[in-house]
Amino acid sequence: MGDYDVLFEPVRIGPKVAPNRFYQVPHCNGLGHLRPAALAAMRGIKAEGGWGVVCTEEVEIHPTSDLSPYVEGRLWDDADVPGLRLMTDAVHEHGALAGIELTHAGLDSANDYSRLTPIGPRSEGVLGGGGFEPRQTRAMTKCDIADVRRWHRNAALRARDAGFDIVYCYAAHGLTLPMQMLSRRHNDRTDEYGGSLVNRVRFLREIIEDTRDAIGDDCAVAVRLAVDELLGPEGITHDGEATEIVGMLAELPDLWDVNVSGWSNDSATSRFAAEGHQEPYISFVKSLTSKPVVGVGRYTSPDAMVSAVRRGVLDLIGAARPSIADPHLPRKIREGNADRIRECIGCNICVATDPKSLPIRCTQNPTMGEEWRRGWHPERIEVRRSTAEVMVVGGGPAGLEAARALGERGHRVQLLEARTRLGGRVDREALLPGLAAWRRVVDWRLGEIGRLDGVELYPASPMSAEDVLDTGTRDVVVATGAVWRRDGRGRSTGRAIDGHGLPGVVTPDDLLDDLVAGAWSLTGERVVIYDDDHYVVGGLLAELLARRGHEVVLVTPAPLASYWTQYTLEQERIESRLRGLGVRIRTRETLAAIGPDHVVTTSVLDSAPTTLDRDHVVLVGDRAPVTDLHEELLPALSDGRLDSLRLVGDADAPGLIAHAVFAGHLAAREFGDEIDPDVVPFRRERFAAP
Ligand code: ADP
Ligand code: SF4
Repeated sequence: MGDYDVLFEPVRIGPKVAPNRFYQVPHCNGLGHLRPAALAAMRGIKAEGGWGVVCTEEVEIHPTSDLSPYVEGRLWDDADVPGLRLMTDAVHEHGALAGIELTHAGLDSANDYSRLTPIGPRSEGVLGGGGFEPRQTRAMTKCDIADVRRWHRNAALRARDAGFDIVYCYAAHGLTLPMQMLSRRHNDRTDEYGGSLVNRVRFLREIIEDTRDAIGDDCAVAVRLAVDELLGPEGITHDGEATEIVGMLAELPDLWDVNVSGWSNDSATSRFAAEGHQEPYISFVKSLTSKPVVGVGRYTSPDAMVSAVRRGVLDLIGAARPSIADPHLPRKIREGNADRIRECIGCNICVATDPKSLPIRCTQNPTMGEEWRRGWHPERIEVRRSTAEVMVVGGGPAGLEAARALGERGHRVQLLEARTRLGGRVDREALLPGLAAWRRVVDWRLGEIGRLDGVELYPASPMSAEDVLDTGTRDVVVATGAVWRRDGRGRSTGRAIDGHGLPGVVTPDDLLDDLVAGAWSLTGERVVIYDDDHYVVGGLLAELLARRGHEVVLVTPAPLASYWTQYTLEQERIESRLRGLGVRIRTRETLAAIGPDHVVTTSVLDSAPTTLDRDHVVLVGDRAPVTDLHEELLPALSDGRLDSLRLVGDADAPGLIAHAVFAGHLAAREFGDEIDPDVVPFRRERFAAP
């Protein structure tokens, strides 16, 4: 420990004492009120891993704050208390404090499930649901305001009874009534809640006072405040109204939890924001209050954490994503194993499932969200049941994770990789602009494997079926990955693109080869990128090529460039960056044909053709799984020369890095088990009929 002792100092928060400075701030997870046992198990493991405070996600306090279809926390009445009690018990078991983020979402709740009238500072289109729901709020009457205050107070009492230690008054992310009342964009009221800043702060002040009055002797009262919306004069700014707001309320709460708004700014990906990126916005807060301050900034380095404390920026190191990627991060620092932290890569796959109402998952931590339903623990894995030695072919994320986890189980493992460098697609994709942090997927696994006596790595070892069988191995995991299709076939037309064999037509693999080699084979100026993949690669190549001086047109059948990155909160940033670099974006067009110096696109709306000049074309369609080794080994499984053979990762079905890591991990967990395909492979939470 030594240098990091300061991180393990207790911090008083009102009537409570946090055992250390590690603070898991509220974060969504798609488990929420529908999956309380899964939620409790996930939060409990963080407390076990040393987080001194573990909070919920946003917790709706009333059916007029119904965030459906998103699965958040819910504390509408007493019947919701037992579900939340599961979480506080799990957190308290390990000596941590439990925090709850009480939320009235105001105009962010479309109330699609409850069908009650949404309310907000004024009558305006709701921002909740899909963001463009055809419904408006009712401008809150005085009666509504009194109701919300009473609902918040009642929720605080129920939160206390559910065992929570810290109760939030939430005015951040644009997601709640107290923040919407602060905002000049949403609050045009002419009563005592509108107009001057003192008036706009009134509602938040009342909510804090009500909460203190209700439970302030028993629980700490926290305020979560957005101190900058990154909208300039249109919004709250850290050196403008936020300074005045914190000044007005400085000593009222027991804790300030401060961040930038909205969610895409707060949870910016590593491609767009570095560790500690919020410091310039939040550092003023401590100068205005004697109360402890918590803030986030994707801190994964204990040195950066200590520095933030020593420089007086923060008292408590807030983390959502670093605690998701490594629920045992504090324990590792405490035990002198900071180099074993499974560092968050800042990809936001954990965020991406929330808008889909699905349980959380994580690229780095394949056990996230699986703690209860599969009984997985991020740091413990069942010891092997046999002495089998396993061969893993392919050293990408799937193969590395399979080898690591099998090694943890105590198996002897040989991993063979054709390339001279390990890491597969991650080793290569991390060379794309802004993706350097993604290398942590490989680095962490190599570091862990280095500590395991039984796992041997053999780069530069392309394996044929004969090579594999000659070794006498009886158990093989095939993780041979995938390659981008040369014919551009993708989901939108299902057809190979005419002319794909012409000179100047390349795939992402060709360009990644160039990056690895430090050479650049595209000599012409005009490049058309056809993106029928819709995640990051098409947009990243557009950025790379534009930065290298090419004239780039990005064509996609989707309505937006890099469509799926909406779920990782990146789409607007990506599109704005591409436009800033001069990339021309053509949406809702498929690539019909490639000619020697042009391409023809077709509108998905009316089939209208467009001809674009080109020197090069980059085809980002489907990927082809590399399955030949697996296919050639299958007869050996049938005739008994192999005991087991498993295809995992992109070789099985190309997808995200998170899918590959999960598949490798699952293969290791299930190794040696008889898997019955007719049995649901995990537990589900089901409700008894009322
Ligand atoms: P995944 O995401 O499923 O891990 P990757 O494409 O990242 O897949 O990694 C697959 C790795 O397998 C690549 O590094 C590739 O070089 C390697 N590979 C493919 N075929 C063979 C083979 N026959 N022998 C050894 N390594 C192979
Ligand atoms: Fe970090 Fe990505 Fe895991 Fe989220 S999914 S915690 S951003 S590594």
